Amino acid sequence: MNYRSIALTDQTNPLSYTSLQLVCLTLLYLGLSIQFLSIFDLIFLPRQWTLGLSIFLIISGALGYTLSIENRKKTTAQPLYTIQGNIRQKKWSAWLLALFLTTFYVLLYLRPDLLGLGKNNTPNSGLIGLYDGLSYWIKGKPASEWFVYGTMYTLAITCLGIRVIFKFSHNRYQVYRTLSIIFFQLIFAFLLPEILQAFNKPYVDLKNFWPLNYYFFFDWNIDQLLASGQFGFFVLGWGTVGFLVLTPLLTYYFGKRWYCSWVCGCGGLAETAGDEFRHLSDKSKKAWKLEKYLIYSILVIVVLMTLLILTSRFTGYLISISQSLAHWYGLIIGAMFSGIIGVGFYPLFGGRVWCRFGCPMAAYLGLLQKMKSRFRITTNGGQCISCGNCSTYCEMGIDVKSYAQQGKDIVRASCVGCGICSAVCPRGVLKLENINR
Ligand code: SF4
Ligand code: SF4
Repeated sequence: MNYRSIALTDQTNPLSYTSLQLVCLTLLYLGLSIQFLSIFDLIFLPRQWTLGLSIFLIISGALGYTLSIENRKKTTAQPLYTIQGNIRQKKWSAWLLALFLTTFYVLLYLRPDLLGLGKNNTPNSGLIGLYDGLSYWIKGKPASEWFVYGTMYTLAITCLGIRVIFKFSHNRYQVYRTLSIIFFQLIFAFLLPEILQAFNKPYVDLKNFWPLNYYFFFDWNIDQLLASGQFGFFVLGWGTVGFLVLTPLLTYYFGKRWYCSWVCGCGGLAETAGDEFRHLSDKSKKAWKLEKYLIYSILVIVVLMTLLILTSRFTGYLISISQSLAHWYGLIIGAMFSGIIGVGFYPLFGGRVWCRFGCPMAAYLGLLQKMKSRFRITTNGGQCISCGNCSTYCEMGIDVKSYAQQGKDIVRASCVGCGICSAVCPRGVLKLENINR
């Protein structure tokens, strides 16, 4: 007799494409190809039309394809996550995608001129020029490489966030969490900073607190904020209260999840665009050790760098050391690690490489969570059937199963409280709770 699998995750029958999915994939690739060809100025319609058409094709293709896959999983009682027939198992496609993403990030950070950024008052061309119309419409200025990046990033989080909401429509925690991610990305990280520029105010992401916003205390940032009057004073005050008061307070009540899984854009991209790569996170003890060394070392470097910069600002000493430290931190950690490796390597190491190994904010939040927080994942060990779904799909590489088997609460500095372990557990063993202390 054939029994239907009750697993919420792995299954062995790869899903084949339906005609609707093939049409949607074609639309998606068409939209992406238009953007790619625009790098070489190979566009055949006015720029605004070209951009509008490509974004329309990308959104409709991506939504149509992913929603149809999720819908088919639901109607045929398939697991939430499927490994077979997915890009994650085709190593070569994962490497190819990683190479493509990494090349894009390298160009973005190091050679935006090759993407069409105009230098010395020359107008933009290529891919960046394609976004000029949208940029003029939002802020009355030509596009920069960061405007293009912000638009793509927001589109990815929104489209793939809608997919996650659809996929977890039975799970309120996942629905609200994903809506929150989309809201903070769209309003706080993208629209608000761009609109501020239209009013000649500094570009500010109000949810980006020090130490993630490592340049908060840099001279140029403090100077530009002080020069912009009351608004600048507000931002300086908000940023200081943010990392000194809000962060510890909210982490005490809710754990680091309030930031890493509900607000932050890096976590937001990992939870939406990186959702299909969850199982790739390394669960070994070696990786855990490396994680602890790396993430806390980076936090220490940010603290030292900030102290040096403030010392040189107020005393005039150590200026060259603080400036060169700031330069190398910006290049190696700010650009290469968080951007190029952090996103480019999604298809190889999962979506939370940066959050797990590099982010100084995650390190700060993690220390607070470990030492003083009401948040924990409680386990009902007697119910665990050791299927391993929870460990497999933990993006932070936590061996959740071993805690569940022992009936121990999970209080780990690295847990971002995404709740996926609980969502994929077929026995309801795991609960995310804020207990009274
Ligand atoms: S332990 Fe669970 S809630 Fe914590 S990061 Fe892993 S999957 Fe997310
Ligand atoms: S807690 Fe146990 S039953 Fe639940 S997903 Fe983990 S291993 Fe499976």
